[in-house]
Amino acid sequence: VYGFYDQDLTHKTILVGDSGVGKTSLLVQFDQGKFIPGSFSATVGIGFTIWDTAGQERFRSVTHAYYRDAHALLLLYDITNKSSFNNIRAWLTEIHEYAQSDAVIMLLGNKADMSSGRVIKREDGERLAREYGVIFMETSAKTGVNVDLAFMTAAK
Ligand code: GDP
Ligand code: MG
Repeated sequence: VYGFYDQDLTHKTILVGDSGVGKTSLLVQFDQGKFIPGSFSATVGIGFTIWDTAGQERFRSVTHAYYRDAHALLLLYDITNKSSFNNIRAWLTEIHEYAQSDAVIMLLGNKADMSSGRVIKREDGERLAREYGVIFMETSAKTGVNVDLAFMTAAK
């Protein structure tokens, strides 16, 4: 989970989803406009007020306080990783339990550049998003596709 504040601290967006789906990479792409390959660990400081769970999301022990004052949540899965998609329902249950009811939720199918490794169809993401009434996009932290759009849509 990562927190992102704008300068007057009025909006908070957090990134949620299984370890390895590309949360840190997406944030780095948005902030710096580049892709830094390889896994990130522990805390990264990239110019905004930011929280980094140092991987606790692996153990489903993400602090619920992260959700409480979030205005927007970017919920990521990896289009090449079926379990990251299957876990989306559990993440949504947690979000609905702990986040504000009027928070904007965006479902993002990340790693859209990896067409050869794709196991989750775009339609599957769209269908799940429709079922939960959330916004859907496919993104790539590598190429930058839809990254600015995702953050800007959440902010708007
Ligand atoms: P996090 O655990 O959710 O923060 O995921 P990371 O940002 O650490 O990314 C996990 C791995 O996936 C790293 O090896 C990244 O380089 C890679 N990765 C993240 N986003 C993308 C993407 O959009 N495309 C590709 N090809 N690789 C990505
Ligand atoms: Mg990370």
